[in-house]
Amino acid sequence: MLTCDTYHMPTGLTEALTLWSEAPAGSRLVSGATDILPWAREGRAGDVHLPAMIDVTRVPEMSGYRVEGGRVRLGANTVYQDFLSKDDLRRFLPCMPYCAIWFADDQIREVATLAGNLVNASPVADGTPPVAALNGEVELTRLADGKLARRLVPVGDFILGPGKTDLAEDEIVTAVILDDATGYGGSFQKVGQRRSLVISVACCAALVKTDASGTKFEDLRLALGGVGPRPIRLTEVEEALRGAEISHGAIAKAADLAASKVASRSRKEYRRDVVVGFVRAAIEEALGNQPGAPVEIRGAGETADV
Ligand SMILES: Cc1cc2nc3c(=O)[nH]c(=O)nc-3n(C[C@H](O)[C@H](O)[C@H](O)COP(=O)(O)OP(=O)(O)OC[C@H]3O[C@@H](n4cnc5c(N)ncnc54)[C@H](O)[C@@H]3O)c2cc1C
Repeated sequence: MLTCDTYHMPTGLTEALTLWSEAPAGSRLVSGATDILPWAREGRAGDVHLPAMIDVTRVPEMSGYRVEGGRVRLGANTVYQDFLSKDDLRRFLPCMPYCAIWFADDQIREVATLAGNLVNASPVADGTPPVAALNGEVELTRLADGKLARRLVPVGDFILGPGKTDLAEDEIVTAVILDDATGYGGSFQKVGQRRSLVISVACCAALVKTDASGTKFEDLRLALGGVGPRPIRLTEVEEALRGAEISHGAIAKAADLAASKVASRSRKEYRRDVVVGFVRAAIEEALGNQPGAPVEIRGAGETADV
């Protein structure tokens, strides 16, 4: 069971940061509590009593989203359900709905935040590959001489390893900032023990944009989760396909190249096979999901090497 001496619900960012900086050692920030509650369940961490919990879900500066200069600023309180139910977010971040649909279940999605998912820093978190594919940065805010001090950290640097992040003791994640990928097709592939309510064994996010003729890759973003301690952005695969003609052969070669990057120590061979299968599936699905005219994938051997 999880108990605490004081449960705070600040209604402003300065108030939240003040409470956080003054909280006794051992206190915790909380958003949706979908990681904190299972952690505190008897049998894992045992009964847990905290001096204070600071619930940030009512902080307006951490809520909502806006687009500025080609980047989407998602307040840290954005929950997974938003990626399914908000049409503009579906358009700006085309891989996120495919991630959200496989994330937990309806109830958890209503409260689980993307920010909490990143801070939890599980190697198999579903949120990290799409955020990496969208060139995501984590906005961290603290109080310095009573004023708000912000810094931005790319997600690949924010996650240091399993359960470890670059978040300083006095900081709160206030936003996740991502590329506006309007016009791209998106996909998310997840492999686990079963299809729903499952934590991934490995996962893959893809974003694809074709050229005006619809026959060549103009841009491609690929990231993997669950194959190492941090999300892996497959930049060499992206570069190999950029400008290449769209064919099953080119995609198959790209999937093989992706598998050669797999660095997980456990179940390496299994995951290698998984990576080949779902990198291919992710690219093909993202092509199929690109807005506009359907993209034809030509047969193996018909087009140029990657
Ligand atoms: C039934 C179930 C199914 C699940 N399925 C999946 C799944 O399919 N895929 C998956 O990846 N995960 C899954 N999870 C894990 C969990 O839902 C996610 O990691 C979730 O996104 C965490 O967000 P939260 O808002 O609930 O975080 P919380 O539990 O509130 O917090 C998680 C951590 O982040 C910290 N934190 C929260 N917000 C902030 C902030 N703004 N600034 C700084 N620190 C902060 C907290 O102190 C805590 O350490 C599942 C969990 C459950 C219970």
